[in-house]
Amino acid sequence: MGIGYDLHRLEPGGPLRLGGVDIPHDRQSIGHSDGDALLHAVIDALLGAAALGDVGLMYPDTDPENRGRDSGDMLANVLESVKLLGWDIINIDCIVFAQRPKLLTHRQAIRQRMAEILQIEMERVGLQAKTGEGVGAIGNEEAIAAQCVALLGAGEE
Ligand SMILES: [Zn+2]
Repeated sequence: MGIGYDLHRLEPGGPLRLGGVDIPHDRQSIGHSDGDALLHAVIDALLGAAALGDVGLMYPDTDPENRGRDSGDMLANVLESVKLLGWDIINIDCIVFAQRPKLLTHRQAIRQRMAEILQIEMERVGLQAKTGEGVGAIGNEEAIAAQCVALLGAGEE
């Protein structure tokens, strides 16, 4: 089992990249890669479960090659590494912390995209959403954050 957490700064602009999906929004996530906090949390949960470190270790933000990098590609590469060690994903569960936008209408699309990248059924991808209750960095829409837990099992021979 592994856990992942990530937070990105929000600035005016759009769209908002989340879980590999571009969500129409008036704020965008700032980061060295594409700023996808949700996929970065998933990456860290997988790396954590396989004791492979974290996303910063694998994709340092000091490396110009990682500028604007697609987090979906990063996650696919990490999945490859995890599978090479003999692990399969049993399920993941994620929480997105964002004051806006409401994720309900995008929830299925995000779950579908993550399931696609992870090569598992959508039923194995849990996605919850929380606001920041109008306080702090999340509540004031200065940041978006995500948490993820991933459960791995011994892969089939
Ligand atoms: Zn990140």
